[in-house]
Amino acid sequence: MTDKEKEVEKVFIGGLHEKLVEDKIIEESELDLNFSKEIRKYGGKDVMTCLQCGNCTGVCPISLKIAYKTRIIMKYCQFGLKKYTLDTRWVCATCYRCYEHCPADLNPAEVMIALRHIAIREGIIPPFIKTAATNLVKYGQSVKPDPEIDKIRIELGLKPIHTHDADYQTVIREIQVLVHASKYDKLIGIQEEVKV
Ligand code: SF4
Ligand code: SF4
Repeated sequence: MTDKEKEVEKVFIGGLHEKLVEDKIIEESELDLNFSKEIRKYGGKDVMTCLQCGNCTGVCPISLKIAYKTRIIMKYCQFGLKKYTLDTRWVCATCYRCYEHCPADLNPAEVMIALRHIAIREGIIPPFIKTAATNLVKYGQSVKPDPEIDKIRIELGLKPIHTHDADYQTVIREIQVLVHASKYDKLIGIQEEVKV
């Protein structure tokens, strides 16, 4: 792995190392018996249908790389171990491979998305999420425009990104209106970036 790749990986998973609780004694008071219901409220399917077969972990590109195991997250969700699931959900790439291989027709990817919804509402927001949201309302995309990216775009036959162009400004304006109307700006804490 090159230094640059190592740096990218560090930024991506930095501070998000899975907290495995396999060897810990869990107190009953740590269990949130309404957790599976809460996951369903935010779009996840019923985690109680998980068979713990492990197919999802076996095909997950992230699980292959780091100590993040999809099956274990499903188990934590079943047991109501909410506090162990909310701070590491951001590593899921939402590639849906787990869904394709799940015999229970549970969709772990959407459970991960539901966990993000819950985490954000509990104020667990990793800095890079705030950065991506800020870039979205400022530049119309989650990544800040960069001359190096423009160079690659030109090589690929794409137009460079000119965020000051009138067309681009219209799109940014629409994004800002939507972000404000959905209260996403308040949820993430980027109200000062949204001019509506
Ligand atoms: S959607 Fe997430 S959990 Fe499922 S295989 Fe892809 S990265 Fe892994
Ligand atoms: S593939 Fe489906 S049933 Fe198997 S462990 Fe993963 S979520 Fe559970």
